[in-house]
Amino acid sequence: TKATFAEIKARDLKISAFLAMNEEMAINQAKAVDATGIDANNVLAGIPIAVKDNIVTKDLTTTAASKMLENFNPIYDATVIEKMRQAQMVTIGKTNMDEFAMGGSTETSAFKTTKNPWDTTKVPGGSSGGSAAAVAAGEVVAALGSDTGGSIRQPASFNGVVGTKPTYGRVSRYGLIAFASSLDQIGPFTRGVKDNAAVLNAISGNDSHDSTSSAQAVPDFTAGLTGDIKGMKIALPKEYLGEGVDADVKEAIQKAVKTFEELGATVDEVSLPNSKYGVPVYYILASSEASSNLQRFDGIRYGFRAQDVKSLEDVYVRSRSEGFGDEVKRRIMLGTFSLSAGTYDVFFKKAAQVRTLICNDFRNVFNDYDLIIGPTAPNTAFNIGDKIEDPITMYMNDILTIPVNLAGLPGMSVPAGFSKGLPVGLQLIAKSFDEATMYRAGYAFE
Ligand code: GLN
Repeated sequence: TKATFAEIKARDLKISAFLAMNEEMAINQAKAVDATGIDANNVLAGIPIAVKDNIVTKDLTTTAASKMLENFNPIYDATVIEKMRQAQMVTIGKTNMDEFAMGGSTETSAFKTTKNPWDTTKVPGGSSGGSAAAVAAGEVVAALGSDTGGSIRQPASFNGVVGTKPTYGRVSRYGLIAFASSLDQIGPFTRGVKDNAAVLNAISGNDSHDSTSSAQAVPDFTAGLTGDIKGMKIALPKEYLGEGVDADVKEAIQKAVKTFEELGATVDEVSLPNSKYGVPVYYILASSEASSNLQRFDGIRYGFRAQDVKSLEDVYVRSRSEGFGDEVKRRIMLGTFSLSAGTYDVFFKKAAQVRTLICNDFRNVFNDYDLIIGPTAPNTAFNIGDKIEDPITMYMNDILTIPVNLAGLPGMSVPAGFSKGLPVGLQLIAKSFDEATMYRAGYAFE
């Protein structure tokens, strides 16, 4: 734990991955592990881990990178934090992110800009950019993020680390500050696939505090990591190597296809014809859910309250106007509009219907295949400042990850080489609750 803090002190001035740390608290946690005795069968015992700042922690501020929650001190720990403690892991600190997890570059944070450790003029991706950069920079060996439309997989891709979005319901969302409740999942970042599987094992499982968490048994995700994937049937959607995907990214993925074939898997081209509607469907549904979830930030219950207010309405309007950043306001307005009488049928209901079509596409492919592969993102890390003024371009960056959230499936990004010195990520997508197959393939590939 002390060595981890030394690494963070040495490196984080350049990267700015962390928003909060509490060295004394972490050392005490580590001492408590020493006192109970390290469980020799537990590879995670005593391992420090960083946590995205939208996961509530009792002894560390939790801001979701928003002025709205600046200095907010939660009164409880999220279930994943509790589970990590049971696994004898040590919580080191909280990582930077896009405000309320809305964004793809960590630039919408109200507090700081995190830099990509491979090239500090580039973004680390987002919204879990701080967690991904902290692992890539060697500050920590593991971190937690959250993924609503790609926020674990895309930054994993941009930083050359492994990032997993579990099946919807695999990990409890209790204590995750909600963005879009039907899409959000917490998941791990690590350097390698095996570590990733171990951390997911520690945080998975049914939780009475989250009615959407699943009662499905949690298998040992590390058990099948033998390197043997002979006979595995892999699908490559043609839409995932189509228009808008950079040539160098395509090249890295074609190479990955060859690697899988050499390992004894078969790779066939398939189609996910409705995935092209993923981005508009997501921005209607996710923003609608966000507009409802963010109603609680009213200047009364938590965090920021505007000064010199004249009436109750003034408290609401001014606190929200001054506390939320531009991107969050954009989503609240889009979501409120989509849910309004008169537009509900045209936008929200239609989007929910198309979501079903996207789910059916995946179901059809998984009738015949064990796994789907493709790029995680259409490009490598872009320049800081390049896309932040142009929301549509930023939104399109998630075109390859969003359909997986809409269908509730598990997805993972593993490093698949470099283009001009920047990491390229390979995305692996599996059937619901079949993370084991995804890890098996990722481990054989890495
Ligand atoms: N970039 C997407 C968005 O801005 C996804 C974010 C996420 O997964 N939290 O909504």
